Amino acid sequence: MNTLLWFQRDLRIHHNPALNWAMQQGKPIIAVYIHSPDEDAPWSEGAASRWWLHHSLKKLSIELSQLGIKLHFFKGNSVDTIKQLAIDNAIDAIAWTNRYEPQRRICEEQIEQYLAKQNISIKRFQDGLLTQPDQFLTVSNKTAYKVFTPFYKKLRNELRLADFYHNTTENKKTDATSAVLKTATLKLEQLDLLDQYPWHEKLHKYWSPGEASALKQLDYFVDNLIKDYAIQRDFPASNATSEISPHLHFGEVSPRQIITALAPLIELQGGHIGNAAETFMRQLIWREFARYILWHFPQTTTQPMNTKFRPSFWKSNQTQLHAWQQGKTGIAIIDAGMKQLWETGWMHNRVRMLVASLLTKNMGISWKDGAHWFWNTLVDADLANNCMGWQWVAGCGVDAAPYFRIFNPNTQEHKFDKDKAYVNQWLKNRTSKNPIVDLASSRSLALEKYKHLTSN
Ligand code: FAD
Repeated sequence: MNTLLWFQRDLRIHHNPALNWAMQQGKPIIAVYIHSPDEDAPWSEGAASRWWLHHSLKKLSIELSQLGIKLHFFKGNSVDTIKQLAIDNAIDAIAWTNRYEPQRRICEEQIEQYLAKQNISIKRFQDGLLTQPDQFLTVSNKTAYKVFTPFYKKLRNELRLADFYHNTTENKKTDATSAVLKTATLKLEQLDLLDQYPWHEKLHKYWSPGEASALKQLDYFVDNLIKDYAIQRDFPASNATSEISPHLHFGEVSPRQIITALAPLIELQGGHIGNAAETFMRQLIWREFARYILWHFPQTTTQPMNTKFRPSFWKSNQTQLHAWQQGKTGIAIIDAGMKQLWETGWMHNRVRMLVASLLTKNMGISWKDGAHWFWNTLVDADLANNCMGWQWVAGCGVDAAPYFRIFNPNTQEHKFDKDKAYVNQWLKNRTSKNPIVDLASSRSLALEKYKHLTSN
């Protein structure tokens, strides 16, 4: 009999509980990755994410082969593929790390129901999350949290950091054996993750997907950058954040591994560095909150959390949307951000907030148009973070920014990029043309619209 190991968003070999468990079974392992874009529609992976995924899978495949495990690739419906694998290959156990996206959860449930009927033992791991969303509820009325601060306080109180740094060893990986597969497989290239036109070549300049790079990035951040994180993280030219988001999204490193690295700084070192590490921990908990919200309110991938916001609240303006996408709004920090995104597949968090505010509030265009553009262009595109981030800025989401918070990009540039280092880096000293919208009058218009909606 064989053990089936299904990789999803846990593309690493270290501290991967599903892989550890499969290896402990002592039976030949069939390791698989199934690319099933139709199951994610309308949020099938975008072009930049697919570039990352291709290279991450390539690295994982090499690392697994060094353990004696072959990674097999499939394309199509995940439920049917797992059923077929089980039928063809004498599987008596299966392990995977759960996903949290609504459609993925449905697929996993269907797979579990089918396999249970076949008496195949199923081991599911919740390693991508720190909480059990269905059990982590408000104390007062046992409902889901909708506000970040109480969620943060409860989770932070419950995280026993000592457990993390006292528990960093993992089982030694003994050589595993691969089973001979009876189901037809594909080559990685046949998953068609890379666009034919090689626009993505430029991304190699900025990123190196895969577990080894994720761990190197984490070490570099903890050794060199974290001490200034709390004070520098809002300055886009300072390169002071971890830039670990794409690695985290694909599970090349887990939130637990990151907390293991932070824990001694907070518990043992304290002071300035401890505070900086605590600030970073808070951002990780924002990530957790986004997943939690998606879990409890799956409709928020396509609809605003606040149902007062009807589609007619936003307007459609293809010319303005296109100018925003191309970094041609004539507003320096906005255009710089959109250029950074286009060139590198990533944008600094402060600038993400500014470009989203301009699009949804000054231009009055739907958060969904912005979220889809980010989805296709970000290497860290993540359903939970992206939908929450966009709805938060647009004012229609959970614990959203108040309606009157409309960032003025010029004031923000003055505050966070005073010497124009960021703007000049991405705009190459190109002078801005006239802004596409008048910031003052569009702000007044937006305030009126939002006030009217929220007072009704
Ligand atoms: P760091 O500051 O080093 O933070 C460490 C980690 O904490 C991040 O990697 C991320 O996993 C998490 N984190 C940090 N800030 C947030 C936040 N505000 N919300 C949730 N998690 C956070 N993040 C994505 O990973 N994917 C997205 O698709 C995405 N879309 C966004 C869209 C908008 C409109 C906004 C405002 C934010 C979005 N974010 C998204 C959140 C945030 O901008 C990025 O996580 C962050 O910029 C990644 O850079 P970093 O790894 O250097 O962050």
